[in-house]
Amino acid sequence: MVSRVIPVDRFDLVIFGGTGDLARRKIFPGLYRRFLAGQIPAEARIIGAARSDLDDASFRQSVAEAIDEFVGPAKRDAAAIQGFLERIRYVAVDARGEEGWAQLATMVRPDVVSAFYMSVAPALFGDLAERLKLHGIARADSRIVVEKPFGRDLDSARALNATLAAHFDERQIYRIDHYLGKETVQNLMAVRFANILFEPLWNAQYVDHVQITVAETVGVGGRGSYYDRSGAMRDMVQNHLMQLLCLIAMEAPYHFDPDAVRDEKLKVIRALQPVGPDDIVRGQYRARGGEPGYLDDAENPASRTESYIALKVHVANWRWKGTPFYLRTGKRLRARTSEIAITFKEPPHSIFDEAGGDWRENVLVIRLQPNEGMNLRVMIKEPGPGGMRLVQVPLDMSFAEALGEDGADIPDAYERLIMDVIRGNQTLFMRGDEVEAAWAWTDPVIAGWEARGDRPQGYDPGSSGPEDALMLIHRDGRRWREIQE
Ligand code: NAP
Repeated sequence: MVSRVIPVDRFDLVIFGGTGDLARRKIFPGLYRRFLAGQIPAEARIIGAARSDLDDASFRQSVAEAIDEFVGPAKRDAAAIQGFLERIRYVAVDARGEEGWAQLATMVRPDVVSAFYMSVAPALFGDLAERLKLHGIARADSRIVVEKPFGRDLDSARALNATLAAHFDERQIYRIDHYLGKETVQNLMAVRFANILFEPLWNAQYVDHVQITVAETVGVGGRGSYYDRSGAMRDMVQNHLMQLLCLIAMEAPYHFDPDAVRDEKLKVIRALQPVGPDDIVRGQYRARGGEPGYLDDAENPASRTESYIALKVHVANWRWKGTPFYLRTGKRLRARTSEIAITFKEPPHSIFDEAGGDWRENVLVIRLQPNEGMNLRVMIKEPGPGGMRLVQVPLDMSFAEALGEDGADIPDAYERLIMDVIRGNQTLFMRGDEVEAAWAWTDPVIAGWEARGDRPQGYDPGSSGPEDALMLIHRDGRRWREIQE
């Protein structure tokens, strides 16, 4: 089936967990920005739902405060905010009780697109799905949106999929991985498949290795007890880094169609080889100068959960045999940065041996944050007299600069993804089998270190991670890129 992007006039969007942190920080500010872009028509209704006893006016007030806090001043316009708030309603419902459901049933119109965003703890997904069906609120063409984490291992992900499948078809389910909503991530597909330039070189013959880095400067802070049950492997690698790896490694889909794209990503996940103990380094940030270390934040002084992980991963197929993918992600690192770097091999023969200069391989860097963009490092002759000396220069494309005003106004991942839900386009959402395949690869890696009783290594806050992570790549004669903004 070939998907079409259908313009939508009227829709009802119910945000369960409308009073929660995610709704305040991302969902409502994102919807407001889409309103400014003209994508939330007057006939649209956005309905906040949670247990708190609020009326429309007080809920609107809290949304206005969220906009004040999380939308930049340039976009805060009193008249526009008022117009946006007029589309918002509130209903008090309990996912596990009967209160509010009959009222919600009267609010969701039968003749418009309806979507239900479950921005609540995953333990409530089943209760919400059941009641949406029981009260005849969700129809066969309604959409539901579910947040991460989607399970904590294969068994729990399967159980969650089964719970949702009991009430909804797969084509109705939108599993959010907000990395897929990032402009650069989608651009990765455009760069690969809308240009002839890169694809002939995009394989083990020409690519020496790939590095994927997602570095944060913050610690786990107030999320310590949640994070301690998860760790970097479950919280970041199984979903976000895995999705990035898929988009780099996948074959060209036959069409930019949700299932065609997801079929190709699934093949990559299934081709991932198991990771042995020598190819994993885990770490925990230490305390420093009065700032808490991971063990203080996690509250369990004996915790073995990792706040950092580096892995060397192989994709066992014809295209990638022999090209390692180095993945790393962690908290309390030197800088906040996310990037993918594709390092190409050396030319087969150098004609410039005696020319000197600073010779390096070509590297294509795709920056997710900060300053989304791409950068291709190429060798040129150093300008001026003095013979043939080579120097590496960047061909740099910052989206904000290259695309002028449009580039500076890159939508946040959440706002893009929510509008895709309304339009009925699942391309940027994970399919159930993809999530299960990702856990099927992740589980044995975690089980391996648990069985061995491995302890994470300490690393200094503000560093680039544990010492052994350097060795992981050094022993292959390569080095990590600097973690810098
Ligand atoms: P939160 O701040 O704890 O909010 C939870 C929301 O659920 C509140 O609105 C709460 O409102 C509502 N709720 C709780 N029990 C309910 C019940 N029985 N019936 C109806 N509503 C109920 O959580 P959050 O941080 O927004 O996270 C929401 C989801 O997004 C979670 O799945 C989380 O893993 C995911 N997520 C969050 C973030 C983030 O940055 N926050 C990032 C990625 C994923 P009442 O107490 O008024 O009922």
